[in-house]
Amino acid sequence: MNPLPNTHYVGGVWAEDVGPTFDVTNPLDDSVVAKVAAGGRPEAEAAVAAAQSAFPAWANMTPGERQLLFLRAADITERRHDEIVHLLAVEAGTGRAFASFQVKLSANLLRQAASWGYLPYGDLLRSDTPGRMAMATRKPLGVVAGFTPWNGAFFLAWRTIVLPMAFGNTVVIKPSELAPMSAGLVQAEIFHEAGFPPGTINVITHAPGDAAGIADVFFESPHVRCINFTGSDRTARILGERAGRALKRTVFELGGYNPMIVLEDADLDHAARAVNFGAFFHQGQICMNTRKVYVARTVHDDFVARLATRTAALKSGDPLEAGVVIGPLINYTAVEKTEARIHEALTAGAKLVTGGQRTGRVHAPTILADVPPGSPAANGCDETFGPLLVVEAFDDPEEAFARAQNTPFGLSAAIMTGDAARGLAMAQRFDTGIVHVNGSTMAGEASLPNGGVKDSGWGRSGHYAVEDFTEIRLTTVTTGPGHYPF
Ligand code: NAD
Repeated sequence: MNPLPNTHYVGGVWAEDVGPTFDVTNPLDDSVVAKVAAGGRPEAEAAVAAAQSAFPAWANMTPGERQLLFLRAADITERRHDEIVHLLAVEAGTGRAFASFQVKLSANLLRQAASWGYLPYGDLLRSDTPGRMAMATRKPLGVVAGFTPWNGAFFLAWRTIVLPMAFGNTVVIKPSELAPMSAGLVQAEIFHEAGFPPGTINVITHAPGDAAGIADVFFESPHVRCINFTGSDRTARILGERAGRALKRTVFELGGYNPMIVLEDADLDHAARAVNFGAFFHQGQICMNTRKVYVARTVHDDFVARLATRTAALKSGDPLEAGVVIGPLINYTAVEKTEARIHEALTAGAKLVTGGQRTGRVHAPTILADVPPGSPAANGCDETFGPLLVVEAFDDPEEAFARAQNTPFGLSAAIMTGDAARGLAMAQRFDTGIVHVNGSTMAGEASLPNGGVKDSGWGRSGHYAVEDFTEIRLTTVTTGPGHYPF
């Protein structure tokens, strides 16, 4: 196993002097996992300069040369599977199933991205000027500054790095201070081993509280052309205001509320499995987790009984232990938020279906029913970001649809029904970036265009990201004499 990467990676070189450090701790027991470099302005400035000087050569590299590098990185990622699963457990409390899934999804993303250099890169256009040929071609932006979250740390860092790089941009990453190794530094190690040219990927880590100082450098630099952020809408509002003042492009992948509607003709076992998985995967700390399920009153009690049996059987504890599905929440702030939501709802008259208790930071998966609509757990305005699901009965599917739509978020939604055509008709009306008929709200494939609308942000993954990380240049060539008004 490699030693844990713990310092900045700039211009293809690991910083020799780690300098000041901060502790990265295990969410399960607060033990120190690593001491990681606490960088600041000078490191961030050096990283942007390295990315800028690497940009022209990377932008002009042939698709075949880039393809080889991405394919090598995919193989290295798979080779390091066990070590990454361990790192994700101790750094971010990630269970084996989610960690292993992230490694496979990341290798898949790298292999998909390896072919994107061969996508058509423009159009030949008709012109009204005689003898003129017009071309609209895609150009990379330049340096893209990426902010990564801690929750789906390994895959989401790859997404932040790979999408811009596949289209010819160079990247500086500022990983989450809660998981800097799995959300940035390991990826730099893998690209280094794969032979990516120095400066194409750069990673700067920082202590808690210092994120804004690193962001200052990105906003001030004329070379940084895009802010590529995955995280909360709260932080996105701060970055968005600053991007407006600096006139920088933004790509925002934010949170969600993610309702599921179970119609009366649904396969209830399938629905219960989909909700149990969708609500409690990574103990509810994923942007696409199901937060609320609306169930036809005629099947409500039957559905809730099936779901509660499955949820109560989920094993909690150390994510490294075999069979454990529910690991620790990332920190005590997350524990307190989950507990407060449950407490408020119960005080307002909600019914506890299962869960409610915790040991340390490991909170039992919890289901609440009959939650008054104004209660913060049920009002659709705030992600609890913990293992809490609200179940609500409905009489009329249209009323359920209207309630499910009543949220500022627009990431993912799902409908369970025995009639796929009926599900599709409802799905088309959902104001979300993603909607699944007969599937969980929680789903991810490297090639598909995940992303949100409304307060869930903008930007799409898969090769659709070409829209986010390139710009169109118009070039014309005129062979005739030319016509001018004077
Ligand atoms: P966060 O907003 O707290 O942090 C995200 C990143 O922003 C981190 O790198 C952090 O250091 C940085 N940051 C925080 N405050 C900053 C500031 N003032 N200036 C500059 N940078 C700052 O989010 P998080 O807790 O790491 O992640 C969880 C959130 O991310 C949830 O809301 C979740 O739904 C969302 N998320 C969305 C997606 C998606 O694809 N849509 C995926 C994963 C997570």
